[in-house]
Amino acid sequence: APVILWFRDDLRVGDQPALLAAAATGAPVLPVFVADDAAAGDWAPGGAARWWLHHSLATLDAQLRLLGVGLRVYRGDSVAVLTRLAAATGAGAIHTTQGVEPWVRALHDRVAAVDGLTLHTHAPDLLYPPGRVLTGQGTPYKVFTPFWRALQTLDPPGSVPATPTRLAGVATPPADDGLSALGLCPTAPDWAAKMAPHWTPGEAGAEAALDRFLDQRIAAYETGRDHPGVSATSALSPHLAHGEISPRTVWARTRARCPDEVARPFLRELAWRDFAHHLLHFMPDLPDLPMKPEFKAFPWVDDDRALAAWQRGRTGYPIVDAGMRQLWQTGWMHNRVRMIVGSFLVKHLRLHWRLGERWFWDTLVDADLANNAMGWQWIAGCGPDAAPYFRIFNPVTQGEKFDAKGAYVRHYVPELAALPDRVLHQPWTATAAQRAQAGVRLGDTYPHPIVDHKAARQAALAGYEHVKAAQ
Ligand code: FAD
Repeated sequence: APVILWFRDDLRVGDQPALLAAAATGAPVLPVFVADDAAAGDWAPGGAARWWLHHSLATLDAQLRLLGVGLRVYRGDSVAVLTRLAAATGAGAIHTTQGVEPWVRALHDRVAAVDGLTLHTHAPDLLYPPGRVLTGQGTPYKVFTPFWRALQTLDPPGSVPATPTRLAGVATPPADDGLSALGLCPTAPDWAAKMAPHWTPGEAGAEAALDRFLDQRIAAYETGRDHPGVSATSALSPHLAHGEISPRTVWARTRARCPDEVARPFLRELAWRDFAHHLLHFMPDLPDLPMKPEFKAFPWVDDDRALAAWQRGRTGYPIVDAGMRQLWQTGWMHNRVRMIVGSFLVKHLRLHWRLGERWFWDTLVDADLANNAMGWQWIAGCGPDAAPYFRIFNPVTQGEKFDAKGAYVRHYVPELAALPDRVLHQPWTATAAQRAQAGVRLGDTYPHPIVDHKAARQAALAGYEHVKAAQ
């Protein structure tokens, strides 16, 4: 009988344990993707990720066709679709990839409970499956550094297996809904047109991004990775989020091509991804509830105008605005700037971290439930291993330190481009003559700061007193 190969966020053919296992059965393989927003609930893919997913599915279909089978795509309830396909083809087994998201685990339980179907879940897209990196007492780590130390003592995450050159297909594959019927890609207006030039979704694009990084960037990664004006990082995140490349492949190839001291700082960041997924596996409330429960007492502010100013990149703080505009224009934001804009939302504006988490979810091409939730909890001070709340980033000094020459701000906030470096990150300190010469009119061509740093800092610390009292 045929076997169903059920794709979700593991959209590749190389180093794909579920595909290898399906191929190893020797049976005809029916590759399937189901767009099931209802199962994902609040965490159905956001707008930017849907655009990516559309293109990723198209390239996966092309890759699979080279192996002799096409991808069938459906919209609807996964359990109903899979049951229907099993009945139509006589398949009794489904091969898929393990996930850590609570909704994925619940969905897998539902599929596994269907009479006559056997669900085989294969190694998740992580360096090590959750539960593999544990403390000496066998408990999950809640702090990254010891997790990373322990991870490095394990055998390497494994060599990359050869991809089958051919898969046997089902003689008469059932009709599918077709990619365009999934409604993933925006049409009118096609807001994604502005993002497209920055990216090549799909497995070949992921491989090319890794090669480019290892050839050109990794040597300067450690010194450059905090500077958003330099392309020093891998930009692999959307590819990893959609499973277009396996983290084990990234690890193995980095190890094979780079000396240890060059490879390690990068692999450490890759291990943060494992850490986030490990946290979500053991703490399924991570996207919704503060890990430090006393943070429920924080007096969050309700301010739609401030939220909109943040979302649109009109806060009057150039590094914050540059970051939010990079996100809107490209679907991605540099990690250092994610921390700066996150801190600004949560501490300067005192808006709930979940509002930031939600906006990122809808606008990031790399939106990933575990990484996003951990990132927001970390920046809000309520996550495991978080920076202490009272350490409040100053957006001016952060800008001056990490975008000293202003390349990043000038690119994304062009209305300030002609200001001298010295005042670029705080345009309100420019002299009238400097502003006039640069064509900057505060409150007209560029906003006044929506909050005063010192006053905002005081208000945040006053709010934190409620958290301390609830401890
Ligand atoms: P590189 O520096 O080249 O790192 C390589 C890979 O390691 C990344 O692609 C990513 O998969 C992983 N990685 C790196 N840093 C982190 C980190 N801090 N946490 C977890 N994994 C990491 N990353 C996402 O993939 N999806 C998200 O939704 C997401 N939301 C975030 C929200 C906030 C508030 C913050 C502070 C960070 C968030 N991150 C998220 C983590 C990080 O910013 C991105 O992974 C990184 O900027 C991606 O760029 P890169 O691929 O060039 O990274």
